[in-house]
Amino acid sequence: MTSATASRQCPVCGFELRDPLPAVCPRPSCGVEFLPGVSGPVRLRPFRLVNHYALFVLPFSFPETDGADPVRRVAESGRWRQRVFSATDPADVDRTEYFLPYIRRFLFPTLYEVPGTATKGTDSTPTCRHFELDLARLGGGPKGVELTLRCHDSRKKVSFQHALRLTQVELVLFTFRVGFLVLRVECADAGATFFDQMNVVAYLRTIAPLYRGFEMPELSTGSARFGVPQLLPFLLAEFGGALLPSGPEAVPAGTSLPVKPIYDDRMMVYTFSCLDKDACLADAPRCQALLHRATVVNFDKAASTLPEREQIGKEPNAWLRTRWQGFSKDGGTLVVFNTDAYHERYAGVYHGTYYFDVFLLAALQRVTLLTLFERLADTQALTRGSGASRRLMRRVRRDLLLFKNQC
Ligand SMILES: [Zn+2]
Repeated sequence: MTSATASRQCPVCGFELRDPLPAVCPRPSCGVEFLPGVSGPVRLRPFRLVNHYALFVLPFSFPETDGADPVRRVAESGRWRQRVFSATDPADVDRTEYFLPYIRRFLFPTLYEVPGTATKGTDSTPTCRHFELDLARLGGGPKGVELTLRCHDSRKKVSFQHALRLTQVELVLFTFRVGFLVLRVECADAGATFFDQMNVVAYLRTIAPLYRGFEMPELSTGSARFGVPQLLPFLLAEFGGALLPSGPEAVPAGTSLPVKPIYDDRMMVYTFSCLDKDACLADAPRCQALLHRATVVNFDKAASTLPEREQIGKEPNAWLRTRWQGFSKDGGTLVVFNTDAYHERYAGVYHGTYYFDVFLLAALQRVTLLTLFERLADTQALTRGSGASRRLMRRVRRDLLLFKNQC
């Protein structure tokens, strides 16, 4: 639910609203519809979420240390549980059989492991390991961690408060010492809309102020208050040398990440939104303009599927069957309306599992090449002629070969 807490303002464009609340935002470029209400936060009618999630993806690399192996620390800290896929479990077979055997072996090597040896030291390092955080470490219950996000948009001069649920925190670690931290977040309010979800995505993905004077959003759960720049070092503490902090609020502000993020200021985002077809504006072009404007990852015309042109002519609401998709270096997005069972029930599942794995593979290739390039570009360190320099060179060569053979 969007709540413009300071005064009555349009949560989409920030327009100052007077009582009685109009049915439609008076700003000509906006025109969003409001739900009637005498006081309290202004609530929106269009684009109510029927089914949705947002995945926040932090790609990072971690250096080879001569001390404790961070992957071993993750496996042994007690905070993470390794996700092991089994060839005898029909659910795991279902989850992994989308891929050709070669990719399956690369992404889900535990399918081919002898049970019981998964986390123990084996001769060859597995290509990929999946770990899941015990959400009780963040005060979470069976449904996840209930969070409140507070943020302020200084351009629109609107303050927002969103109820969120963090339902999963996953760590996917690859042999190239490249990892992905993946946070799955949902809007927890019953009336939450696409605007709320995108607002949450825009704020929560930020790990450093975007410009001078940018107010970092605040998260709270129970009595604990913290920001994303504290949450991330808490989740990745096994990659640092220090003891594990008791909670994100115990991480001092200004603590740097114990890994090397690929992007310094934001996480990648990967979202799915299924919207209520019955709560749309009657004006289809305006509706589509609002969708395009609100989305964080811009829709890609080539990747979006539109209904047949002749159907659009016969049926004024045919446009609701469009699948808007977008992919960029910021992430991926899929938006649909609940026009059929596929959109409502299955599209989100496929988008969040098989297609997300493809997205992760593409990101892995990009990120691994970037880190290899960076290591190779440091010619000074590689050509010193010392033992350390030769060791660095050997490691770069090994990782290049691994990448060539496996990706
Ligand atoms: Zn407005």
